[in-house]
Amino acid sequence: MSADPRQEPAGLIVVGASVGGLAAAVIAADRGCRTIVIERGKELGGGASQDAEAIAAAGTRFQRDAGLEDGPERFAADILAASRHHVEQELALALAEQAAPLVEWLADRCGLGVELMAAFTGAGHSVPRLHAPGDQGGASLVAALARAASRHTRVSVRPGLVAERLIRDGAGTVTGLAVRPERRGAGQTFAGPVLLACGGFAASDALVAEHCPAAASLPYFGWPGSVGEALRLAAEAGAQTRHLDACLVTPFLAMPGALAVTAPLVELGAILVNQAGRRFADETAERLVLATLVREQPGHVAYLLFDERIATAARTADPFFARIVLPRTGRRAMTLEVLSKQFEIDAEGLTLTVDTFNGNVELGGDPFGRERFGGPLEPPFHAIRVTGARWRTFGGLAVDRTAHVLDAAGRPIPGLYAAGGAAEGLGGDGTEGWLPGTDALAALALGRIAALDVVAQASAAPAEPAS
Ligand SMILES: Cc1cc2nc3c(=O)[nH]c(=O)nc-3n(C[C@H](O)[C@H](O)[C@H](O)COP(=O)(O)OP(=O)(O)OC[C@H]3O[C@@H](n4cnc5c(N)ncnc54)[C@H](O)[C@@H]3O)c2cc1C
Repeated sequence: MSADPRQEPAGLIVVGASVGGLAAAVIAADRGCRTIVIERGKELGGGASQDAEAIAAAGTRFQRDAGLEDGPERFAADILAASRHHVEQELALALAEQAAPLVEWLADRCGLGVELMAAFTGAGHSVPRLHAPGDQGGASLVAALARAASRHTRVSVRPGLVAERLIRDGAGTVTGLAVRPERRGAGQTFAGPVLLACGGFAASDALVAEHCPAAASLPYFGWPGSVGEALRLAAEAGAQTRHLDACLVTPFLAMPGALAVTAPLVELGAILVNQAGRRFADETAERLVLATLVREQPGHVAYLLFDERIATAARTADPFFARIVLPRTGRRAMTLEVLSKQFEIDAEGLTLTVDTFNGNVELGGDPFGRERFGGPLEPPFHAIRVTGARWRTFGGLAVDRTAHVLDAAGRPIPGLYAAGGAAEGLGGDGTEGWLPGTDALAALALGRIAALDVVAQASAAPAEPAS
C-alpha cells in the first residue's frame, strides 16, 4: 500500500494496453491483484490488431487433438536454432514452457477461438505449432483480451494517459509510476510494481538508425506507437538492454494496406516480378537482401505471382492469409495478360518470365540461383503487390526468467518487469533470427510470468498492520 496519500495504490501497474499488458492485467486480477493499465491511446491492443498474431505453442491440446507430439524442450531448441543460438537459452525455455498453458487460457478464460495451423510446416518449426487466434487474427486476440480486462472488477484501464517516469526509492526499487494526460491536464502518480508492456522502437527512425543500421534504409508502415518508450522509461533505473540490433524486416508487405504476407507462398513456389514483368532475385534469399532488392525496383514495389495450387495450399496453411490478406490484397485472373492489366505490369515481359521459369523448373536450373521451386506456374494466376519494409524490433530491456528487468550488473531491478516489444525477444541478433509466432508469445508469456511473480511476491509479503 502507498505511504503517500497522493499516490493511487495498485497491486500491479501495466504501461501499455498491448496484448502482453492486457493478458498480465487479467491474470494478476484473477488472482486478487488490483491492476491499473495505463494506455496513451484511445484503442486497446497496440499493434496487434493489424496483424495475424499467430502464436507458437508446444504441447497444446490442439496439437494433441491433431495427433502431434511436441513439448517445450523441442520448441526451445527450434527457437535457439532459428536465432543461431543468439537468444538466452534460459529465456527461450521459460517462454516455451508458458506457451501451452497460455494458448489454452486464451481459449478457456478469454473465450478466444483457437485454430491449430496444422498445415503450416517448416519456417523453422520442426512440427506444426502455430495457433491462429479467432477468425480475424490479432483483432480477435485484442477483442478477447480487451473484453476480459474491461469486464474485470479488479482491472482499471486508463486510456489517454502517458507514462512519464518511474518512481524509485532510495534502494533502487521501482515503487510506482508518474503519468500525464496525453492531451492536457494535471499529472498523477500510482504506487506499485510496474510492468512495461509499451512496445519496441521500429517506428523510430532515429533509434533504428542508431541500433539496427542494416534495416534503417527500409521504410516502416506498421504501428506508429512503437517509439522506444520502454527504453526511455527504464534508462533512469539503470536498466540493461540486449539484442538492440535485432530487427525483423519483410520483403512481402502487401500494398496498399500494409498487411504482411506471412503465408509460405515462396516455399510453395511463388515468384517475384517487377513492373516490367521480370524476376530480379532468388525469392528464397535472406529477408534483408530481398527486401532491399524489392525497394530498388521501379516504384519500390514488386509482385508475388502464384497459381491456384499455391493459393489453395497457402489458404489451408494460414487462416489469416485465407480470410484477410488474399481477399483484401490479391488479384486473380485466368490469363497473365488480364492479370498484367490489373497491376499495369508489362504483359509480354510477364509471359516470357513465366515461360522461362517453368522451363527452368523442369530442367532444374535458375539464373538467380534459386534451388527450391515447387512446380511450374499454371493458370489461373494470382498476384499481390508488395514492398520491402522494416517490421518490428526484437531487442529491448534485458529480463530474467521472472520477467524482471536487469540492471547493468545483471541484477533484477525490484518492482520492474518488461514484456513484448519492450523486452528482449526471441529474434536473436540482426535481421534473420525470427521464428514465426514467437513475438506474440514473448509478449503474452512475459506478461503472464510478470503477473504471476507480482502475485507471488504480494502473498509472500508480511501483512500490513490494520490502520
Ligand atoms: C505487421 C505485423 C505482423 C505481426 N504478426 C505477428 C504474428 O503473426 N505472430 C506474432 O507472434 N507476432 C506478430 N507480430 C508482432 C506482434 O504484433 C507483437 O509482438 C505483439 O503485438 C506485442 O506487442 P508489443 O509488446 O510490441 O506492444 P505494442 O503492440 O506496440 O503495444 C504497446 C502499447 O503501449 C502503448 N504505449 C506506448 N508508450 C506508452 C506510454 N509512454 N504510456 C502509455 N502507453 C504507452 C501504446 O499506445 C500501445 O498500445 C506482428 C507485428 C507486425 C507489425
